[in-house]
This record gives sequence, C-alpha cells and structure tokens, in this order.
Amino acid sequence: MASPPHAVIVGAGPAGCLTAIYCIRRGFHVHLFDKRTPPATADRYVGSDSRSYTMLLTCRAIEALQAAQVQVPSSLMGPLVGGCVHLPNKKTRVFTYTNGNSASYGISRNGLVWYLQRVLLQRYASHVSTHFEYELAKIDDDKCVAVFQSTREGGDSIQVEYGLLVGADGVSSKTRSEMLRLEETRPETPSLTFKYTRNPESYKSFYVSPALAKSSPLYVHHSYVQSWPALNMLLVGMADGSFWGGSKNSELLNATSGAAVERIFRETAPEVYDLLCQQNSDFSEDYAKQPRISFGGAVVLSRFHRRNIVLVGDAAHAMFPSYGTGCNAALEDCLLLDRIMDELASSNAQGAIDACKLAAEFSRRRVEDAHAIVDMSTDLRLLPRGPVGILQMTLLTSLGGLLPGLFGRTSYQLLWSHVPFKSIMQKKRVEDTVFAVALVAPVAALLFVLKSV
Ligand SMILES: Cc1cc2nc3c(=O)[nH]c(=O)nc-3n(C[C@H](O)[C@H](O)[C@H](O)COP(=O)(O)OP(=O)(O)OC[C@H]3O[C@@H](n4cnc5c(N)ncnc54)[C@H](O)[C@@H]3O)c2cc1C
Repeated sequence: MASPPHAVIVGAGPAGCLTAIYCIRRGFHVHLFDKRTPPATADRYVGSDSRSYTMLLTCRAIEALQAAQVQVPSSLMGPLVGGCVHLPNKKTRVFTYTNGNSASYGISRNGLVWYLQRVLLQRYASHVSTHFEYELAKIDDDKCVAVFQSTREGGDSIQVEYGLLVGADGVSSKTRSEMLRLEETRPETPSLTFKYTRNPESYKSFYVSPALAKSSPLYVHHSYVQSWPALNMLLVGMADGSFWGGSKNSELLNATSGAAVERIFRETAPEVYDLLCQQNSDFSEDYAKQPRISFGGAVVLSRFHRRNIVLVGDAAHAMFPSYGTGCNAALEDCLLLDRIMDELASSNAQGAIDACKLAAEFSRRRVEDAHAIVDMSTDLRLLPRGPVGILQMTLLTSLGGLLPGLFGRTSYQLLWSHVPFKSIMQKKRVEDTVFAVALVAPVAALLFVLKSV
C-alpha cells in the first residue's frame, strides 16, 4: 500500500488543530508543530490562565467543528444570549442578541485548543505526529522540506518533508515570513504583497472562580456579555460558571500602584472590584503589575499560498478583535480547505489531492472575503459610534423588523450567519446609502417647500 501524503502543520492553535483533523480525514499523515507546550488539563486552560481569553463563537465556527465531527462539550462551551450594559448611573440595560435565532457561545481560546488536541490524540493517534516546543525555522520549497528548532535551551532541530505545508501559526506567522522571503528571491505570479496594521490597544485580564462567581449578584447575567462602558471593561460568563474579564481603559492600564487600581475600580465598578478582591486579596497590586496584553494587529496579504504552502487563520488574515470574528473566520477557513480537498479528491481517478491546486484554490476563494472582514474590523464600520451611528443602527434595525422582506438583518447581524464577509461589506454600502438618503431626503423636501412658498 502506498504511504499517505504528508502534511506539515505549523501551529497547534484552533486553526492548526482543526486543519489537522480535516487533513487526516482526507488521508494525510499530519506532523503538527507548536512552539509552546501543549495544554495539560482543561481546568488549567479554561479560565485561570491570564494569557487566554473568552471567544465568542457563532454558527460559522460551530458548523466547521461539527463538519469534522467535533462536538465541544457543554462543560467547555456555554451559550451567550445577549449583552448587559452597566451604566454609570448604576442602572443596567439588558438586550438579547437578535441574530435570526443563530446561537452564540463563549469558550476560552485555550479551552478550545485543549479539546481539539485531545480529539486529535484520542481519535487519530496513529495518523498524527505532534511536536511541541518546536518552532519553524526555515522552509526550502524546492526540496519541500521544513526545518523546526527546539525552543529548549540547546535543543535539537527536526527536518520534515511535506506534500502540503499549512501555516496556522497566528498573527506573527513565521510561515508567512518564510513565504515572503522565498518570494523575494523567486517571485511567483500574481505578486505577493503584505500589509500589517498594529492594533494600538491593549488590555489586562482577570478571572473569578466558578464558586465565587455563583455567589455574586452579577451571576444573574452570567450568560450575557456584561460591560461597563465607563471602564471599557467586559465580564463574560464561562461554561464552568467562572467569569473572565478584561479592561482596556487607559487609566487602568497605566496605573502603577495597587492604590490607583483600587480607586479607579471603586469609582466605576465597585461590585466587580469586591468580587476580584475576594478571588485574590492582592488583586490591586497584582493587576498593577500584570503586563499588558497586546491585541496583535491586522494582516492583509494579496494571496494565501505559494506552491504547496497555504496560510490559514490569523497567519493569513489576523484582524482587530472588534466583533469577535477572528476565530470564526479561522475555523471557516478549515472548512473551506476541506471542501476543496473533497472536490479535488472527487475529480481525481485515484482520489489524490494536488496540494498546489488546493493552496491556489483556497486563495482564490478566500482572499476577497478575508480582506472584507479585516477591513471592517479595523475601521469598526459595522458598528458606527456616536449619535449618528446609533441613529443609523436604530433606523436599520427597525426597518429590518418592520419590512424583513425588503431590509432583512443588518450587516452587523449578518456576522452571526454564513453570509460571506464580502457580501456583508456590500450590504453595508447599501445601508450607508439608504441612511444617507433617509437623512438627506427630508432636508431636501423641506428646502423645496420653503423655496416654493
Ligand atoms: C483579546 C482577544 C479576544 C478575541 N475574541 C475573539 C472572539 O470573541 N471570537 C473570535 O472568533 N475570535 C476572537 N479573537 C481572535 C482569535 O483568538 C484568533 O482569531 C484565533 O485564535 C486564531 O486562531 P489561529 O489558530 O489562526 O491562531 P493562534 O490562536 O494565534 O494560534 C497560533 C499557534 O501557532 C503557534 N506558533 C506561532 N508561531 C509558531 C512557530 N514559528 N512555530 C510553531 N508554532 C508557532 C502558537 O504557539 C499558537 O499555538 C480574539 C483575540 C483576542 C486577542
């Protein structure tokens, strides 16, 4: 029997792990590399790791997981049904998501990764070789060899031959750097261009254990994303009952003493502060010392492939986490790759998958869509701020409710659907035109009437 083609996957995050599952199901032997250690237990990675964060998953991600027969347990992923805004006057405003009944879920990034890695190792152990604490060092795309270096001091290196190489190594992707380096010496057509926009914002996070969270009055809104706009702060309920939260308030980020942290919290969200102090009696001091966590940046690449190398997820199209869409888009990439693998295998007499065709076809179908969501996430186009923005959102949501056949869901609500991002962008342009006309028409009519009398 012929040996299976080898796929090397760089990065065992959400996109790398799901791509690994799909590749194995399509007959590849997978070599999965990550520069970090694997998550040890679910507990450690669900909420108490300050470097993890809660992600909102929509039907885009859920479909991609389900198509790979991955059913994330409810102990890791819980429903998020709406928002609860804590206003400065101590009142709350609660709303449920009206996204055409498409559910949203909250899961910690590391919790999802832990579960996907578990599925890989339990279900497909003989089809995958995992190499943790190895980072990509170099790609030779003439010989189709990738070199990985151990991240341990004095560690060895590993060379692997690949039939397909998938770069799923996140926003600072080394696979992407290697692709760009190779393009400099031997460019392919169309030319490969790359633009990176740094996200100037950062945040600091906090965690409340399930037992403590359940004893808090804030637990009433556990399945809502709670926010304190005055402190630019979110508190999200996790499936295990805990809370994960974070703030990007600049005063809080710049606070250098525990006393300053306490003062800022007490002025704006004393109920959260009390809870955090019960969780950790040194909370203020620890929070002042906690390093800021970067939001990364936005990546725009003109294509996602070179020969039999393909980029997916944040490596291809990292975005500002404005709408909670990055992981949804990353997992959608994996499903698209799988669909193309299916088409290529079906059109080949031996069922073989041509990796160069797979990579090129993925780029062809995905680039425009990815550019649309990266652009919309960077300039916050779908959620315009200020009084005019609120007026526009209210008008469009009301029109959608009154005349669903004509207006339907707003472009923002369509993020919770399978509608391609490029179509959402087109819809947004139509909405802007409708809104401009709605604003201008009464003024023009009034001027006309005034002129005629
Ligand atoms: C604060 C915050 C909140 C977010 N909220 C949401 C949300 O609500 N919903 C949503 O959909 N998305 C959200 N996102 C975005 C989401 O986290 C990312 O889009 C998603 O994790 C991308 O998955 P990935 O597998 O492509 O990359 P990553 O998750 O970045 O994984 C990349 C992996 O590659 C490994 N790696 C990196 N370099 C190398 C190398 N040279 N060699 C080997 N391995 C390497 C890394 O260790 C890592 O494990 C949020 C992001 C942030 C920062």
